[in-house]
Amino acid sequence: MSNMPYNGYSWAQRMKIIPAFRKLTGKDAPFDGEPCSICGDRERAPGEWHSEDYSEPYSFEPPESYPVCKSCHMRLHKRFNAPPGEWALFCLHLDAGGYGAEFAKLRTPPVRRELCERLVRGDHVDLPAIRFRRIQDDWWRHLTLDPESLEAPWARPRPLRQRPDTEQFLAALTALGPSEKQRRLLKAHASAPRRTASMRALALEALGKNEPATANLIYGTLAHRLTERLNFKPDQRDDGSPVWMSIIAEGWYPPRREFEWTMVPSLRDAILAL
Ligand SMILES: [Zn+2]
Repeated sequence: MSNMPYNGYSWAQRMKIIPAFRKLTGKDAPFDGEPCSICGDRERAPGEWHSEDYSEPYSFEPPESYPVCKSCHMRLHKRFNAPPGEWALFCLHLDAGGYGAEFAKLRTPPVRRELCERLVRGDHVDLPAIRFRRIQDDWWRHLTLDPESLEAPWARPRPLRQRPDTEQFLAALTALGPSEKQRRLLKAHASAPRRTASMRALALEALGKNEPATANLIYGTLAHRLTERLNFKPDQRDDGSPVWMSIIAEGWYPPRREFEWTMVPSLRDAILAL
């Protein structure tokens, strides 16, 4: 759990949330006295909490942050490396009203292993009810198991840095009147899986050519105009030069693939509304 990125946020970005909360409230942790938001256990270690969203300004309430018990918190972060089927089995245990701390106590490792194998095979597994489950918000149920989500910007619920909202993007695009090629690039990007594509993939999709440098020039020109129109402060390279694309997307180097751009959600929504 420690020193690890999560949902596209570095460890350093994740750790900054604690002093930010202290500064705002004078307290050490939020959710004092609240039960675990995953299993409902009231015997929760004080100070244990989890965030899905570490973008600034930080939020210390759902759906960005949640109170959790130690067991649920540990399983949530270890779900990427857990044996196949174990996170699904843990979710079934929660559905049955089980507390996180009871998961390993109720069944021996061989029994758990067998249940996991059945889940992986696609068999239906029914766990007997443990207690009535009071918590209705099952935010934990749809968490991804894709380890790429640890670092990828597409996993961030919000961009790391605030971008213009959908209305602002719509107004700016209407005023600027993008060229036909720029429109095709925007559309291809907005409809890419996870809003994410390399410049090469965008060039192939929008321009019909394997020419990432051409796409970069056309798209970058639009990004530059949007940046000035919306008075946005672009990201900077180490040499201080502006990254015009940063108004449109957040970039990253995926393992064994070309550099990729994830379009920010507010612009995606603007493109789909055009
Ligand atoms: Zn719990």
